[in-house]
Amino acid sequence: MDCYLLQAEDDMMDPTVAELVERWDTLHKEGRFSALNVRDYWRIKVPEIYSPLPNCNCLRILFDEEQAQKMLFDPLERFMCAGDPTQVYQMVKQLDNPPSLCGRVFKNGDPTYGCRDCGMDPTCVLCADCFKNSAHSKHRYKISTSSGGGYCDCGDREAWKTDVFCDIHVKGQMVQQSKNPLEKIPPDMELLTYEEGFSIPKDLEIRESDREPTNLSSLYDIKDTYVTMLYNDETHTYDQVINTLEKAISCSQKDAVAFATSIDREGRCIVKCSNFQHCSQTKSTMEKQTSRGGVRPLKVQDGGTIVESIIWTDTKMWKTARVQWHRLFISGMLMDQESKKMFARTFTKHYSKMMKDFILDDHDHSVSVASLGVQLFTMPTIAHMLVAEEDVLARLLNTFLSECDKKLKDNKLALEHRSSNTSSFRRIQYILYDLKYLLGVKPEVWTDDLRKGFLHGYSLLLRLLSMMQSMDPMVRQVGTHMEYEPEWESAFNLHIKLASVIPLVTEWAASDRIVLLKAYR
Ligand SMILES: [Zn+2]
Ligand SMILES: [Zn+2]
Ligand SMILES: [Zn+2]
Repeated sequence: MDCYLLQAEDDMMDPTVAELVERWDTLHKEGRFSALNVRDYWRIKVPEIYSPLPNCNCLRILFDEEQAQKMLFDPLERFMCAGDPTQVYQMVKQLDNPPSLCGRVFKNGDPTYGCRDCGMDPTCVLCADCFKNSAHSKHRYKISTSSGGGYCDCGDREAWKTDVFCDIHVKGQMVQQSKNPLEKIPPDMELLTYEEGFSIPKDLEIRESDREPTNLSSLYDIKDTYVTMLYNDETHTYDQVINTLEKAISCSQKDAVAFATSIDREGRCIVKCSNFQHCSQTKSTMEKQTSRGGVRPLKVQDGGTIVESIIWTDTKMWKTARVQWHRLFISGMLMDQESKKMFARTFTKHYSKMMKDFILDDHDHSVSVASLGVQLFTMPTIAHMLVAEEDVLARLLNTFLSECDKKLKDNKLALEHRSSNTSSFRRIQYILYDLKYLLGVKPEVWTDDLRKGFLHGYSLLLRLLSMMQSMDPMVRQVGTHMEYEPEWESAFNLHIKLASVIPLVTEWAASDRIVLLKAYR
């Protein structure tokens, strides 16, 4: 019966796809398979499927998703599974231990439930289903509305003092958490594992090296088809975008509103599809109107793992793409202890670069990959591991200090009023939230590495405090009238944020004799 089914499925598969998968398979068995093989195929197939028709109505572009599934995703899945994906996924699912974590990802507007009696900190929340089936519904609970992106902490031992599991997830806990599910994956499915996943391409971009005229001419130059794509940012208002579009592509106000809505939601939108000349005209009209916008080239960072390249290219992608990747991280990697640790290490290693990108980013913090910090740093085991092994406190503070160094005057912080200075300064203060999360729970057991990591961060914090001593002083003006109120907001905000960090630092220091003695020196 099984064989018959498999046969039937094979018959339905497109012959070119079957041939393709077989070719990849052979290459893989001979150890000659690489991302280039997939890319070569995509280079031809992706434009075939995803090129909009010239002069089409850009508000109603439809792609042949069925064709995309059949020609792009199916071959990749079949190749990675070494067989029929549906059957393989089902088998892998059976091999896995039943879930003892909920991890439901909240959408914007979803209700979240915290427990004042049992939650480790205010960020620990439950989804509605878990809450209704848990003991917390009879405690002092607090309902909030999620702004999207977080997830349910049901089953996380480090999130709750008591009643860790709801009635649904306690079942997963009762089945003995036997061995590592990865060990149960048969060897011919090695491509599904993290270690082997490296040979799969990390993105759909065309490499700079592939952009050589000889490679591209066969694809694009035959058809003179271009699109003008408008990207979202947080600096232009709805009205500005609508006005600009009305002029640039001479459309009705109703259509302009539809475009603007779509840009805000998705992060980008095709507004014109025509030949090169028309499209670049549209682009320059829009740029004249807004002084920015239009086509922003996507650059690709080579090397590293898939996770690393997503972190590196975060600010270069459009809104939906970024948010989707972050959701995938949460529902994939962050649901499993070991991969969460692995992710946290990678996140910490690239923290400085990530924050620097975020300062220049034109989107809010919630869209940035940096916003995942709260998911990682609030977990005490991970926080303590990062302090001891990845020097996370020093990494965060050094990132912060390197921005402060740019704003020093006589070794004191000096921020000019309402300059771009203050806006970048507002952005880096998100680092202080991360610092607070990391220090949220003081360690029960101290190791030498933990002491070293903590004291390293501590000495940098002292440096920051000395910079803040008499920052932005208010000087009494004599003789002339004071035209502008001097800058005080930044100093005020900085003090408020640090005020919640410093008691935590003292608590950490006070919990270990050696650390305390060294901290006083
Ligand atoms: Zn839940
Ligand atoms: Zn639950
Ligand atoms: Zn409770």
